[in-house]
Amino acid sequence: MNISKKAENTAPSETLAISAKCKELKNQGLDVVNLSVGEPDFDTPQHIKDAAISAINKGFTKYTDASGILELKEAIAKKLLEDNGLKYEPQQIVVSSGAKHSIYNSLLALCDPGDEVLIPTPYWVSYCEMVKLAGGIPVVLPTDEDTLKLTPQDLEKAVSSKTKGIILNSPQNPAGIVYSEDELLGLAVVIKEKGLWVISDEVYERFVYDGNKHISIATLIPDQTIVINGTSKTYSMTGWRIGYTAGNINVIKAISRIQSQTTSNPCSISQYAAIAAITGQQECVNEMRVEFDKRRRFMADRLNNIHGLSCKMPEGAFYLFCNIKALSLSSEEFSARLLEKAQVAVVPGKAFGTEGFIRISYATSLPCLEKAGDRIQEAVKSL
Ligand code: GLU
Repeated sequence: MNISKKAENTAPSETLAISAKCKELKNQGLDVVNLSVGEPDFDTPQHIKDAAISAINKGFTKYTDASGILELKEAIAKKLLEDNGLKYEPQQIVVSSGAKHSIYNSLLALCDPGDEVLIPTPYWVSYCEMVKLAGGIPVVLPTDEDTLKLTPQDLEKAVSSKTKGIILNSPQNPAGIVYSEDELLGLAVVIKEKGLWVISDEVYERFVYDGNKHISIATLIPDQTIVINGTSKTYSMTGWRIGYTAGNINVIKAISRIQSQTTSNPCSISQYAAIAAITGQQECVNEMRVEFDKRRRFMADRLNNIHGLSCKMPEGAFYLFCNIKALSLSSEEFSARLLEKAQVAVVPGKAFGTEGFIRISYATSLPCLEKAGDRIQEAVKSL
């Protein structure tokens, strides 16, 4: 009695696996600093929690429309217009159980067996596995060694007769890269000419620094772009599981059909909380951004002062992608040693398709980052 090849060939999510390991070590009494999973440490803002409590008390505890409630879709459409300059009707939006679910559903709606989906490195850990599960073939694209950005020339070279689309992520996880409008324009020209779909993962859009601006590629090629976003990162709502997809009506209808047969609606209570998040005061988001910015600068400086480590200042998201090439250890070995010897958990660059780096999440408090910095310094010294 075997499980399917598909299941057998699916690697577990490394970010979640390392984080689970941290919890286990903490339960054993070890003082582990967890810089692995990308999860804001802030509490969900009170007005969002209140909206959820009110939804429960009002009895909004039943099935909703499988693709999400109209009021939430209207709120998302308004947000996309006002924040991103994107015009969508509510029926061009489907709400799912987290942005991860939105991406997977989009891939299910787009991929036929053997279709290739381009994924620039470094990439978020789940993209390749999700493409495979959806029946497609992930094609990993090398990026510029210095900027880690995809160039139109490299994109053009990678397109084959089987290429169905590309997954773009800006602001990006794990290196905090933000593509400028000009850079997106260069990519958009190739994407348009080759007739590809773009799945544009924009979950970190509100966390950009130093005057950088998030631009959605959908403003340039709206008919070919599937926009993915959610409330997890922006409003520190990771456990509530609300993500959404906006795009071409046929793709959205296909996703809605898939969702109606698989998960049904995302949690009704979370949907009401998401309305409060998206339509409510946005000062809470700015407060988180300001705090992330402080941590980003502190930790980049701290790591750059450790002999053998170097990292570029990320422009967005809440990760540092730290170069460890001078240490002559693989990213897995170095991460394992950090956990074992220094009790600091990070994610090896290999999990993001890029050796020679480790990812450090700074979505944790400054005192924790200070402690981690000291421990990493000691660990590197004693290698
Ligand atoms: N996206 C976050 C990360 O990269 C959350 C964990 C996950 O779903 O992978 O750490």
